[in-house]
Amino acid sequence: MNGVTGACPCGSGRAFADCCQVYHLGKVAESAEVLMRSRYSAFEVGNIDYIIATTLPAQAPLLDRNALQAWADEMTWTDLTIKSHQSKIGRRHAQVHFIAKFIHDGQAGEHDELSAFVRVADDAGVTRWYFLDPTVPCDLTNKQPCLCGSGEKFKACCGKFL
Ligand code: ZN
Repeated sequence: MNGVTGACPCGSGRAFADCCQVYHLGKVAESAEVLMRSRYSAFEVGNIDYIIATTLPAQAPLLDRNALQAWADEMTWTDLTIKSHQSKIGRRHAQVHFIAKFIHDGQAGEHDELSAFVRVADDAGVTRWYFLDPTVPCDLTNKQPCLCGSGEKFKACCGKFL
């Protein structure tokens, strides 16, 4: 775990306080990549509230906070490499391909993920990027309105990424 005075876990070379922490404290992430980096850092510093707050609001209540906390506690994230960032897919989606290195039980490993994000307005009308979590069960049919609130059919919207 990195202290708040140290280098940012995301590997930007900046201090945590001048990098991902500003997003943890409420700044709106300017892009899906920025959001992804700040979520990686949040896992490393154990900020599960941020992980939940940056998951699509329709999915967030279904996350298992204790499981996320336990996972964050047992993993040490050591390196983040962004392989690609598709900043605009259709009207409101983006994807970030990354490789995150970790140590778990004394063993080094790598996590390779293509994450999807959607940009929607929050309750206050501020447009934000949110992580689309493919591990959260979703029982929508393709013709139902999308869970992101876009008004489009699920199939034509977030369903492409879940
Ligand atoms: Zn959607």
